[in-house]
Amino acid sequence: MPLPCIIVGGGPAGAACAIELARKGRRVMLLEKTRTAHHKVCGEFISADARNLISDLGVDIWALEATEITALSFACGVQVPRIALPFTAAGLSRFCLDEALLRAAQDAGAEVVRGVTVTALDASEKPIVVHASGKEFRAASVVLATGKHDLRGCMRPHGSMTSFKLHLRVSPATAAMLRNLVHLTIFPGGYAGACLVERETVAICWVMERELLKKTGAAWQAQTRYLSVQSDFYGKVLAHTQPLWEKPVAVSAIPYGFVRKRVISRSIYPIGDQLAVIPSYTGDGISIALHSGIAAARAILNGTPANEFQHTVTARLRRQMIWAKAGNLAISTSAGQRLSAVMARTLPSAAARIIPFMVNATRLTDFSL
Ligand SMILES: Cc1cc2nc3c(=O)[nH]c(=O)nc-3n(C[C@H](O)[C@H](O)[C@H](O)COP(=O)(O)OP(=O)(O)OC[C@H]3O[C@@H](n4cnc5c(N)ncnc54)[C@H](O)[C@@H]3O)c2cc1C
Repeated sequence: MPLPCIIVGGGPAGAACAIELARKGRRVMLLEKTRTAHHKVCGEFISADARNLISDLGVDIWALEATEITALSFACGVQVPRIALPFTAAGLSRFCLDEALLRAAQDAGAEVVRGVTVTALDASEKPIVVHASGKEFRAASVVLATGKHDLRGCMRPHGSMTSFKLHLRVSPATAAMLRNLVHLTIFPGGYAGACLVERETVAICWVMERELLKKTGAAWQAQTRYLSVQSDFYGKVLAHTQPLWEKPVAVSAIPYGFVRKRVISRSIYPIGDQLAVIPSYTGDGISIALHSGIAAARAILNGTPANEFQHTVTARLRRQMIWAKAGNLAISTSAGQRLSAVMARTLPSAAARIIPFMVNATRLTDFSL
């Protein structure tokens, strides 16, 4: 018997979609390849919009010991004074957040199946055939929520950046320095973000162009040496620190700026990073993932085909994507970085106005469903 809906991938996008469908009484199965909670490459900055959506989905991030983030500090060769964010954000590990969302999906009535890796979707047949490790499922509609990982037949272009994340145990003085703060350092060929997550842990996340990575080397020790001379901030944070894992988690070829235009099938709904990948410095990917997941659930419930859903949601993302890509040029190209540094040095008041403007301009604002 085919299922009404199968969701492939249990990140924020897939979990949000499952919660919404299950709450409305629709039978839904979510297939997630990992068996247990795991660390994911992410800055772990939760914007106010993401925070609100997570709360609507039934997860209390403060009960999970999320930290409050109210300010941004920024280094681009020079240190820009700390700037208040136009909203209160949060820091919470994806290890905690993703598990809590999957639990909420299960509690809402979704069937969450762990340890199943989907290998391909076959939309030439009705219902759609979902090929998974040694198994085959059939469903009237499929939600593609595999995030950073592509499925055969649904590929995205490859980007040139590699991303890393590591959790650090730091001294109480360093933790105090980071309290309520997200810090961004840009350097030739990449950038790095840091914030405090639960249990006084520091999450650092950085992206590097392929060429820079070749120069620095991929070993954590080499990366630490490189990062610690890119700003006073990283010099201090990395000086007295204890990495909590042997090596960072990493993911390569992220297609920043990708927006899926081609429709896969009228019954396959791409959501989250499979629909659009906003440059990560914006810290808005989780918000887009949650919103597109809920919007796909509503589309399925209303009988709206995937092509219409895809068109509506990508149109909503257009404005923030344009600003996010413009900002990406300013922070990840050498000309842009030189300009940012000159501006921060000579016109600090302009920098203090541009940064909050960009924080707002790179947010998803239309949450209509
Ligand atoms: C370096 C970096 C830093 C970032 N920092 C931030 C930030 O600070 N704040 C923010 O809001 N956003 C940030 N983002 C963006 C954010 O991480 C993503 O937008 C978000 O995770 C997308 O959610 P998703 O559910 O689409 O995908 P994912 O979170 O990638 O989840 C996909 C899920 O699908 C599962 N899966 C994959 N393939 C299969 C398969 N074949 N079969 C079954 N299951 C499968 C995976 O195991 C995973 O659980 C960052 C991104 C990067 C690269």
